[in-house]
Amino acid sequence: MINIALDGPAGSGKSTVAKILAEKLGILYLDTGAMYRDCALKCLNSGVDVSDEVGVKGIIDGLDLKIRYDGGAQVTLLDGKDVSKEIRRAEISMLASTVSAHKAVRMKMVEKQREIASEMDCVLDGRDIGSFVLPNAKYKFYLTADSMVRAERRYKELKERGEEVDLNALHEEIIKRDYNDSHRDFAPLVKAKDAEVIDTSYISAEEVAEIIIKKVKG
Ligand code: C5P
Repeated sequence: MINIALDGPAGSGKSTVAKILAEKLGILYLDTGAMYRDCALKCLNSGVDVSDEVGVKGIIDGLDLKIRYDGGAQVTLLDGKDVSKEIRRAEISMLASTVSAHKAVRMKMVEKQREIASEMDCVLDGRDIGSFVLPNAKYKFYLTADSMVRAERRYKELKERGEEVDLNALHEEIIKRDYNDSHRDFAPLVKAKDAEVIDTSYISAEEVAEIIIKKVKG
């Protein structure tokens, strides 16, 4: 079984690299961030404050979340509705970071992630894949990049989707989100001891993917 763990902070290039890897290696790409975004969207739509542990637990217990693949692209269905585009909205990012800090949320999502990873060859991107979800994964990489470069990537991505965002505000938000993610008590954003660090600031996603493919193919 090939399991590739790709971790790192927001905008480090994980999802772009993961998509290339999935295509070139013919394996599945599991975007675990999308799952936490789904939880955040469900809270938002239900009027539940993402920092209210009891309220969030109620939401998670009854969560109807399904993951499908459409021509290799991950589609997430929340209560039967395709929310893949909606969860990418800028406002969902910070809500996802807050909701993902609850242990009950993480345990439920991690269970699904482990199940998928045990059934098929896949590349998973996230924050805790190499350190917590799949500590025995054979291939672990920790992607990192200068925070302004990461903010610029997100800015471009959101602009292309038609969202108006301010680059400096986005930069500040990214720094805050990374802080949240790396300081939570349970399964924080951290480099697994045996993960290889790749600084993606000044190399293309294709080049990063090539580095990883070389390792995987030995
Ligand atoms: O990767 P993405 O920006 O979509 O992730 C949204 C949020 O979900 C992150 O800021 C983080 O709080 C959370 N997340 C996580 N663990 C993962 C993937 C994402 O806590 N494995």
